[in-house]
Amino acid sequence: MQVNGTCHCGEITFTAEANESFSVICHCRDCQVMSGGPYRSILPAKEADFNLLSGTPKLYFKTGDSGNRRELAFCGDCGTHIYATSVVEDVPLGLRMLGLRTGMLAEVADLPPKREVWCESKVEWAQSLVSLDVPRQNGQ
Ligand SMILES: [Zn+2]
Ligand SMILES: [Zn+2]
Repeated sequence: MQVNGTCHCGEITFTAEANESFSVICHCRDCQVMSGGPYRSILPAKEADFNLLSGTPKLYFKTGDSGNRRELAFCGDCGTHIYATSVVEDVPLGLRMLGLRTGMLAEVADLPPKREVWCESKVEWAQSLVSLDVPRQNGQ
């Protein structure tokens, strides 16, 4: 399916072709810290199928829990996370797999996760948010 991404300030926009059956939730500690939530929802897309339409993502490099170095792209103006991928030293440019952050995709509601990874650091209360019996409140 085609997905359309826009960061919060609108500076960075892209389209990508991705298989929704690979959508995944990551519970690793880095995703918790960097997303600001208890887990992160990710849609893998081939770099060749990613079309940046506007803006230039800022890059941040980290070493993941897996020991692999990772390149993380985000909007330098509003801070919205765009994707994480391998560093070009490990996988040649154009051949990488981008882990798109689904929250910024217009199609996020159609991307339920198919599996979970890094469940060792999974937050217990994030187990089943649909079972909450407190009144729902609208977000900001
Ligand atoms: Zn932005
Ligand atoms: Zn993670």
